[in-house]
Amino acid sequence: MPPVNPVIIDRSRHTISRRRISSEALTVLHRLHDAGFLAYLAGGGVRDLLLNRTPKDFDIVTDAHPNQVKRLFRNCRLVGRRFRLAHVFFHNTIIEVATFRANLPADAPAAPEHLFQQRDGVIARDNVFGTPPEDAVRRDFTVNALFYNIADRSIIDYVGGLEDLDKRVLRVIGDPRVRFREDPVRMIRAIRFASALDFAIELEAWQAIQEMRDTITLASHERMYEEMLKLAFCGRAETVGEKLIQAGLFDVIFPAVGAWMKTLEGAGGQAWLFKALHQVDIWKKAGMLPDDELLWALLFGAYHEWVAERLVKDGWHPSRALGEAAHQHLMNPANCVRVPKRIAIGASQLMSAQASFERVQGKRAERFLRHRSFNDALVYFKFASGVTGRNKELLHTWLAIRRRDG
Ligand code: ATP
Ligand code: MG
Repeated sequence: MPPVNPVIIDRSRHTISRRRISSEALTVLHRLHDAGFLAYLAGGGVRDLLLNRTPKDFDIVTDAHPNQVKRLFRNCRLVGRRFRLAHVFFHNTIIEVATFRANLPADAPAAPEHLFQQRDGVIARDNVFGTPPEDAVRRDFTVNALFYNIADRSIIDYVGGLEDLDKRVLRVIGDPRVRFREDPVRMIRAIRFASALDFAIELEAWQAIQEMRDTITLASHERMYEEMLKLAFCGRAETVGEKLIQAGLFDVIFPAVGAWMKTLEGAGGQAWLFKALHQVDIWKKAGMLPDDELLWALLFGAYHEWVAERLVKDGWHPSRALGEAAHQHLMNPANCVRVPKRIAIGASQLMSAQASFERVQGKRAERFLRHRSFNDALVYFKFASGVTGRNKELLHTWLAIRRRDG
């Protein structure tokens, strides 16, 4: 049973000021409240405001049912098949409004209408509408389960999230083993939040991750792709990389690269990977994000180049070998990540293009300079030169050519 007596921190005792909540979110909160409904800000928004960070978005929960929400807003659409959410549209933002829901515990009998068949045939449970405390405890981590109540601007804490926020620990709500079994992606989320917020993962959860890391293979690989992008672009990708490796998750998610990095020949692969992650963090800080193609080419460049070398020894042309190595690996179904085909193709073209840097003159070089993938290919070339010390002269020549003609 979820706790019913929350800790309530009234407005005079916390630091969230309405000025830091977006005007659109405030509009939605006030309209729900004025219509007599509970209206809470929830999730990452509350957590980030309390940490004095800028929230990515503001999610709202209410006891109004989706249809009641829809009636309150002209600019509103209901989305989601299994669980209906309301999207309220504003000029340049969308505010998501969810109705409080409960997570049926794995061992509770579910009514037939709350069971459904997933695409993979597994029978899963639906969410059902719930109360505020039920909605709090179905969330993943205590610091993600705080509510900001617009009615009196208090903070409502059913799960000890405020204390954990203070202590900077990421604590799973409930038994970590049970919660990771329900949704293995929570292990990845734990690593993302701990890294991005600079929190410690509570010991029991950390042990559970190490024990259960193999179950990450059960998560949808499409969803895992999205999660990997969130990890890469969370601003602390280097820390994420360390934690994924420490937890043993990296080897499960990317088995070929993981195994290779443990061999003598792949020993340098890890240093390359960390330099790439570090570079992504630098870009993120500067407000620039690499395209997905470039990201994947960079992270696994050492491995792709090593595979390509074997292919060249078997008689492949270097350019084709590089493209093939990247494509084969990024599309490898043994990875727990489904890289979209066009991204794998983009990364593979960018790798193939590396061979074109050898020719600095003539028609082909000119055509290369105008090619769509030239800029990303050059970023890779520059990065690889920095890591390995090779091609320094060529790099300077190309940088000069681009300054002149680019
Ligand atoms: P971010 O700043 O990255 O958006 P967030 O905490 O808002 O972080 P979201 O993925 O946007 O994370 O999810 C919003 C909220 O929904 C979370 O704070 C959490 O309370 C809940 N949530 C999301 N995913 C899960 C999950 N897999 N299991 C349980 N609760 C979840
Ligand atoms: Mg969010």
